[in-house]
Amino acid sequence: MAFNKKTIRDIDIKGKRVLVRVDYNVPLSDGKIESDYRIVQSLPTLNYLVDQGCKIILLSHLGRPKGRPDKKYSLKPTATRLAELIKREVRFVDTCTGSQAQSAVDELKSGEILMLENVRFYKEEEENDTTFAKKLAKYGDVFVQDAFGVVHHGAVSVSEIPKYIPGVAGLLVEKEVDTISNVMSSPERPLTAIIGGAKISDKIKVLEKFIKIADFIAVGGAMAHTFLLAMGIETGKSLTEPDDIPVAKDIIEKAQKEAKKRPFVFYLPQDGVVSTNIDNPRSTRIVDWDAHAIADIESYPKRPSRRATTVAKDEMILDIGPFSGSFIAGSVQLANTVVWNGTMGVTEVDGVNNDPIGPFAHGTDIVVDALTGYFGNRPFTIVGGGDTVSFVENNELTKAFNHVSTGGGASLELMEGKKLPGVEALLDKNEDVG
Ligand code: ADP
Ligand code: MG
Repeated sequence: MAFNKKTIRDIDIKGKRVLVRVDYNVPLSDGKIESDYRIVQSLPTLNYLVDQGCKIILLSHLGRPKGRPDKKYSLKPTATRLAELIKREVRFVDTCTGSQAQSAVDELKSGEILMLENVRFYKEEEENDTTFAKKLAKYGDVFVQDAFGVVHHGAVSVSEIPKYIPGVAGLLVEKEVDTISNVMSSPERPLTAIIGGAKISDKIKVLEKFIKIADFIAVGGAMAHTFLLAMGIETGKSLTEPDDIPVAKDIIEKAQKEAKKRPFVFYLPQDGVVSTNIDNPRSTRIVDWDAHAIADIESYPKRPSRRATTVAKDEMILDIGPFSGSFIAGSVQLANTVVWNGTMGVTEVDGVNNDPIGPFAHGTDIVVDALTGYFGNRPFTIVGGGDTVSFVENNELTKAFNHVSTGGGASLELMEGKKLPGVEALLDKNEDVG
């Protein structure tokens, strides 16, 4: 399926004033940018527009500033970083409206870049306010949508501005939509989906979709716990969503039905790394609720103790265990395409004694190894999800994957087959430019 919206390459954009919606919602810590991946990913579009002699006005949001100015969420640091990356001056005004913004726009010359302040400093942004949309639209002759991370939510700067000036896609949005929808519609099989992360409720729809189209699904992370509960496995104090046990049961049933129709595997973790205290990895052990492997090693030839196979009442599962990790890595060896979203455990906890891998990050680490070819096979790989991508970035591995998405929710909704308001609002490929 080809991308069916016009892009910046499809229209005559030379010398025009272009209002570009970028996604510079980057992780900040004490005003410092922790990851500039999203800024880097906007460069192809911006360089193209500079080459075309456009006057470039950037719009973005950062964080959740509650509809009013809040210095903590200023986009200023991203303007500074962009200037370094694109090797040109990037002007910045600390407003989106009023005479100061207007004169900054009016002063722009061909090839120059101006960044406006956080568009979420205006409550109108998320209220889809018409007056605000028209005001912003006046800055540009053309609207360019390159903020893939937000295209699934309607907002003034996402879906409303292109009602007043022609809207086209930037190169990042085109690449994201193209790559992800191609894998969903015609993957090179076998297709494996590795779905982890915190909540089953975020990922039900995408799981249901993959039950229809994938050859192998592996579930990890905290969302697996609700499935374990649904199967009567004790999870102690692990993060779970008991209200969603019926949903988990339903998904297991759907997966079982699918597996009767065709070769298909729905895999849930068989073991886990548990601890009574997330901050004290020394209290960590492995529980083998279903693998019958590790416990046997410990107690052979006796039956494994109950303790070896049961998560205690005061323990939490914080990562998938080594058996589960190996099993998932094995499935990746057979795959030609892998979609991965959601970490296998609590990857944020730092390693002890200079261990580069955190105590609950080994499960995610083996998945990364498998996906990047460490065990031999190297499938086509798509990675999405904020925390998942952070893990990949922190390990400086973004280049080791085929596609590292800048969107978490947006990539999931695209996979589910939902329409994305920020893309829908753009001109169709064969539509006349107004
Ligand atoms: P993404 O942002 O990649 O979409 P999620 O936000 O769904 O992923 O999930 C990532 C979060 O899930 C991380 O904060 C991680 O700590 C948490 N997580 C993963 N496994 C567990 C677990 N076993 N227990 C508690 N939290 C977990
Ligand atoms: Mg997340």
